[in-house]
Amino acid sequence: CGIVAYTGSREACHLILKGLKRLEYRGYDSSGIALLENGELNIYKKKGKVADLESQLSEKPFSATTGIGHTRWATHGEPNDVNAHPHFSNNRRLAIIHNGIIENYAAIKQNLTQKGHVFHSDTDTEVLIHFIEDIQQETGNALEAAVRLALKEVVGAYAIVVMSADHPGQLIAARKGSPLVIGIGENEYFFASDATPIIEYTKNVVYLDDYEVATVNQGKLSIRNLDSTETVPYIQLLEMEL
Ligand code: GLU
Repeated sequence: CGIVAYTGSREACHLILKGLKRLEYRGYDSSGIALLENGELNIYKKKGKVADLESQLSEKPFSATTGIGHTRWATHGEPNDVNAHPHFSNNRRLAIIHNGIIENYAAIKQNLTQKGHVFHSDTDTEVLIHFIEDIQQETGNALEAAVRLALKEVVGAYAIVVMSADHPGQLIAARKGSPLVIGIGENEYFFASDATPIIEYTKNVVYLDDYEVATVNQGKLSIRNLDSTETVPYIQLLEMEL
């Protein structure tokens, strides 16, 4: 339902939690966050309010500067801690947050299960990140290309953000049918379902179009369509007040 992601030099966890609270008006049943800590992806998630997640995290010292966060409105799998986003790939090196529905997830899941993938949730979303991982391993492609190839096979609606333990500071986002805004700061990038979590930090935004994949890598933003043609990001100035 709600997406917030960040990469830059600020402490990501509390920035993302604050952003998720700004998206609370959209409604949700659970929330979660993935952070890159000491070369590993750690996922914290909880049924209920963002405040419940926050109180669970309040004791921990956080230093991660890249992370993804989500508020979930369950469509596939009941609202509980396990089905909350983010979800891991099979090897736990990739994590995803997703708004929308992957309609053909069952067929993809069956195929991946035969290949040895083990699923922990009942969500369509977990299938998508395992699928991206599988394509990456089969083709040897970079993650961004694997995301594009996976999305070409997907039927449904989505806004997603993917992060990798192997590429610190990289975030890959895409949309079809669900909104996604990218905020461009000074050596930092924000992704969100709408501009409310971003406005406090920057007024420069790019609204991603359907079938576009945005990649932030080594401090640079690039946008390609699913066929890999690069487009020049159209940067708009937010006029919204806080
Ligand atoms: N279909 C996904 C799920 O049920 C995402 C729902 C959402 O948009 O929050 O987990």
